[in-house]
Amino acid sequence: MPDVARFYGLQINRSGMACCPFHNEKTPSLKVYPDHFYCFGCGATGDCTGFTAKLFGISQFEAAKKISHDFGLRLFEREFAANVQIKPDPEREYRMWLTKAGQAVSDYLTKLYKWRRQYKPHNMSEQTNPLFAESLTKTDYVEYLSEVLTYGSDKEKRQLYASCREDILQIQKRLAEIAVRERTIKRKVI
Ligand SMILES: [Zn+2]
Repeated sequence: MPDVARFYGLQINRSGMACCPFHNEKTPSLKVYPDHFYCFGCGATGDCTGFTAKLFGISQFEAAKKISHDFGLRLFEREFAANVQIKPDPEREYRMWLTKAGQAVSDYLTKLYKWRRQYKPHNMSEQTNPLFAESLTKTDYVEYLSEVLTYGSDKEKRQLYASCREDILQIQKRLAEIAVRERTIKRKVI
């Protein structure tokens, strides 16, 4: 019980007392025993799961799963952290974007270079291959994106995040399209 209470934020003093999270108080009146707790102020009581259920507003069963998950006990199959709200974290989102954007831009640039070589027209009368045309129109801009994402300062990368997210999303969509096409072509060849 003390481990669970501490884990979920209770400050237990030397005599095993803590401020009760279930009513408003400044001096501790909740006693934590080895296997249960009791509040002398509001009368709240229970064991580990009861405490956790009350604290997070979830059922006893969910509380048991949550404790098992949080303490790595693996008592249940397909455990989940019940009712834990994941706070939006702009910094984490930015970092994740940075990784994905870098990958997409580098993959796309590789394709553009490849198309430039592969679909180069051999004479004036030949019709321009659309992939060759795409390479001509996109390479400069994608090289710029790649340069910022690879060698840019943190500030430059953040500026890119602010202003070019839509462009990079388009690149990711284009890559997905190309991947589908390539799979179809492979199937046809087989
Ligand atoms: Zn209380």
